[in-house]
Parts: sequence; structure tokens; C-alpha cells
Amino acid sequence: LRIYINPIITNEKDIIGSIVVLQDVTQIRKLEQMRSDFVSNVSHELKTPLTSIKGFVDTLKNGAIGDEGTALRFLDIIDIESDRLYRLINDILILSEIERMDKDYDKERVEVCEVIDEVVDMLSLKAEQKSIGLSAEKDGPMTMLGNRDRVKQMMINLVDNALKYTEVGEVNIKITSTGNWIKITVSDTGIGIPEEHLTRLFERFYRVDKGRSRNQGGTGLGLSIVKHIVLLYKGKISVTSNVNAGTTFEILFPKDSEQ
Ligand code: ADP
Repeated sequence: LRIYINPIITNEKDIIGSIVVLQDVTQIRKLEQMRSDFVSNVSHELKTPLTSIKGFVDTLKNGAIGDEGTALRFLDIIDIESDRLYRLINDILILSEIERMDKDYDKERVEVCEVIDEVVDMLSLKAEQKSIGLSAEKDGPMTMLGNRDRVKQMMINLVDNALKYTEVGEVNIKITSTGNWIKITVSDTGIGIPEEHLTRLFERFYRVDKGRSRNQGGTGLGLSIVKHIVLLYKGKISVTSNVNAGTTFEILFPKDSEQ
């Protein structure tokens, strides 16, 4: 609690009272804490690939460059770590851009099924490479208000995760209409998520299994970006999961009332 006291002084310089202002700063403190946690998390996340790149470059310079096999292996690692850095910076920029946005600005009519078709096309090669089926079931055209690129980004993150955390089986996207809402579900037959992690899943840099996320090239920001986009367009998101059976993300967006 912050307390401000200002005396009320008359023209004759008599103090005839005072104004006391009590300001609850809990929320401000919380935000400040969250911001500083984010900065330290970001710094740590950026440092990890950079340290690795620097280490391998030094080793190459100190003689490893003479052995072609070793040099190529080290260059591969430097390449992978640079990609990770690139993805991280990209995700951080997307997140900060969405956070800065006004809720009602930047809206257009978005045909959700079209966006989903594009996402399926884009990720079908990845699905094929892992021999995972990728399909979309649509219930006619459906329009919402939002920014097309951002809705697409949200779908890419969800479907990409479903493919990343599934070894056998399939990923299915379903779009249906329920009352005034468009319902999108992304289901997979993957590794699943233990129940105790479900509530923290959408936090920045939260990962269930750090090693697995890292191996899959994850940044830990994908679901946090998804949640921000959902909230930006007044949607809702929920997740259900069974370990070793699969995970389903369900999103509801208000339908465009003009359709
Ligand atoms: P990451 O870049 O690590 O994938 P995300 O924010 O996209 O970060 O997801 C957070 C964590 O949630 C992941 O590290 C993973 O443990 C878990 N997760 C997300 N989607 C799925 C899924 N479809 N199946 C199983 N686990 C998932």
C-alpha cells in the first residue's frame, strides 16, 4: 500500500485539513515482478545457444578446424543453435507485439477454414516425415473478427506442437459451430501432458520436459503466444490430456455477427 498525505492550506497559511490518498500497489508490484522475471528468463534463454556457439567456434579456432569430420559436426551444431536463437528472437518479438496491441484495433473478417487449410498445407510435409496423419474436418465456412496472420500463427503453433509431441498416430483439426461461437479443436495421439502441468502450460518458457522441448527445437513461448492471440479476439482456450494417449486443445472464438 502506498500512502500520500497532502495538507490543505488556506490563503492565511493555516492548515485546515489534509487529503490522504491510499493506493493499492499490489498489482503494479506484481507486473513489475513479472516483467523482471521475463527479462531474466529471456536473457538466460538467449545465453544458452550463444554460449554453445561461442564454445564450438573457439574449439574450431584452437585446432579442431584441421579435422574435417569434427569441423563439419561442430558447424552443424552452430547451425542448429543459430536457428534456435533466430526462433527465440522471433517468438519474443511476436509476443511483445501482441502484448502492446489494443484489443479492438486491427480487426478484419477472417475465414477460419481457409486459414486452417493453409496451415495443413504448410505442415503436411512435417507430418509425412514423421508418418503422422494430419487432417481437418470443417463444418462449412466460418467467419470471425481478428487479424488473419495472427489467427494463422495461433493455428501453426498448436498444430506444430501436436506434431512435435506425437510419435505415432494422427493429428486432427475440427471446426464446428456452437451457438454464437466457432469451436476449433486440435487433437493428437501423442505423449500427453501430466495433469499437474496443465494449469501452467500457457506461461512463458514453461515446459513439461525441458530436454524434449529442446530436442524438438521448442522455444517455450508457443503456447503463451497462442493464449495471447485467443484473448486478443475475446476467445477462450482449454486443454485436456491423457498421458501416452493424447492431448486436445479447444478454442472458442465469437462468430462475426454479420455472417
Ligand atoms: P515449446 O516450444 O517447448 O513446445 P510451448 O509453449 O509451445 O513450448 O509448449 C509448452 C510445453 O507444453 C511444451 O514444452 C510441452 O511440454 C507441452 N506441450 C505443448 N503442446 C503439447 C502437445 N500437443 N502434446 C504434449 N505436450 C505438449
